Amino acid sequence: MKLSNSDIQVSQHSEPANWVKSDAFQAGVIRELELIPLRLPFKTDFKIAFGAPRPGIDVLVLKMHTTSGLVGIGETQAWLRQGSRDTLRSLISIIQEQFAPRLIGKNVFNHASILGELRDCVWSSNYALAPISDALLDLQGKVLGIPAYQLLGGKARDSVCAGITLGISEDEEALLDDVRNWIEKGFTSFTIKVGNDPDRDAGVVEKVVDAFGDKAIIRADGNSGMDWAGALRFMNRVQHLGLDAVEQLLPPSNLDGMAELARRYNVPFMADEAVSSDYDLLKVISMKAASVFQTKIAKNGGAWACKRLWEIGSAGGMRIFPGNHPGASVVSAAAIHLATSWPGPLLEGPIAVGINEVLAEDIVTEPIPRKGKHLFIGDKPGLGVTLDEDKLKRLRVEL
Ligand SMILES: [Mg+2]
Repeated sequence: MKLSNSDIQVSQHSEPANWVKSDAFQAGVIRELELIPLRLPFKTDFKIAFGAPRPGIDVLVLKMHTTSGLVGIGETQAWLRQGSRDTLRSLISIIQEQFAPRLIGKNVFNHASILGELRDCVWSSNYALAPISDALLDLQGKVLGIPAYQLLGGKARDSVCAGITLGISEDEEALLDDVRNWIEKGFTSFTIKVGNDPDRDAGVVEKVVDAFGDKAIIRADGNSGMDWAGALRFMNRVQHLGLDAVEQLLPPSNLDGMAELARRYNVPFMADEAVSSDYDLLKVISMKAASVFQTKIAKNGGAWACKRLWEIGSAGGMRIFPGNHPGASVVSAAAIHLATSWPGPLLEGPIAVGINEVLAEDIVTEPIPRKGKHLFIGDKPGLGVTLDEDKLKRLRVEL
C-alpha cells in the first residue's frame, strides 16, 4: 500500500503535544540528592593482584528526589585499584559540593547536557558521575513507566548471560571446586585472577584449563599486577592453552607494552583498567593494544557512557566484555539493562558480580532473577530494583 501525503499528516484537529509543558516532563525536576555510604562485606576476603585481601567493598548509593516525589537510584563503588582513586569521602565531596548545585532544578530528561556540564566541572570523575547518570535513567523510566532498557535502545535480548570471577587463592583445590560448582549451576565462563607471581599464576591457569577447558571458557585477569618480564614469563607458559582472553597484565600506563604483547602472542588481550574514557578506548584501538575491552558501570561513568564505549568499541572491531566492580544489585541492574538493549555480541562478563555470592549482603528487596547463567531484568519502570531500607541502615558507615 502506498501512503499519500494526506495519510501521513498528523491530525489537524489536535494541538501538537508540548513536551516541555507536559505532566511527564514536569515530573522530572530534580529537588534533592541523598547520599548513603555503605560497606558491604564479602563472604570471604577477595584478593586481586593490587593490594591486600579485601574484607568488603565501599559502596555509595545515591537517591535523586524530584519535586514530584519520585526517587531515582544509582550506585558506585570506591574500589581503589589502578584507574580508580576515589574514596567514599571523595565521591561524596564531588557530588555534594560540585554536582548537586548544578543538578537541583534541572530536568532528568536532559541527560546529555547534564552529564556534559558535570564532566566539565570535575575532570575525569567517572566514579562520581555513574550514580548520577544511572539515577537519571531510573527516573526517566519511572516518570514514563517504562524499563530503562527502552531508554537505551529497546529490547534486543530476553536475558543476559553472566560469567564468574574467581579471586586469587592459595588453595588451588578450593578454586577448582569453585569452578566445578559454578559449572554445575549452569555457568560456562570464568575469569581467574592472577598478577602476583607469574609462575604460580601460570600453574593455576594450567590446572583450571586441564580440568575444565573442554567445557568452559577460561580467561585470566592480571589487574595490572605484572611487570614486563613477568608478563612474558606468564604468557610463554599459557599461550597455547586456548584462553579466550588475557586481561590487563600490565599497568594501564604501559600501553606500549600491552601493544607489544598483542604483537608477540597469538592470544586475545583484554583492556580493563586501561579504558576509562572514550579517548582511552580510541587509543587502545589505534595502538592495537587489545582486541577485547571491559566496561564497568562505576569505572566508565554509568550505563549511558558504557553504551557509548560499546558503540565505539564495536565500530573498532573490539569484542565487548560487560563487567562491574564487586557491587550490589543497583549497579548490576544498570549493566543488565544496557546489555538487554545491545543488539550485537557480548561476552559472558561479570556483569552482576553479586551473583557469584562473593557478597555477604545485597541492598535490594528482591534479587534480580537468575536461571543458571541467565539474568532476567523484567519490565518494571526504570532500573526495576527497590532498595531495602533496613539493610541500608544496618550497612551504613559514618565517615
Ligand atoms: Mg579486570
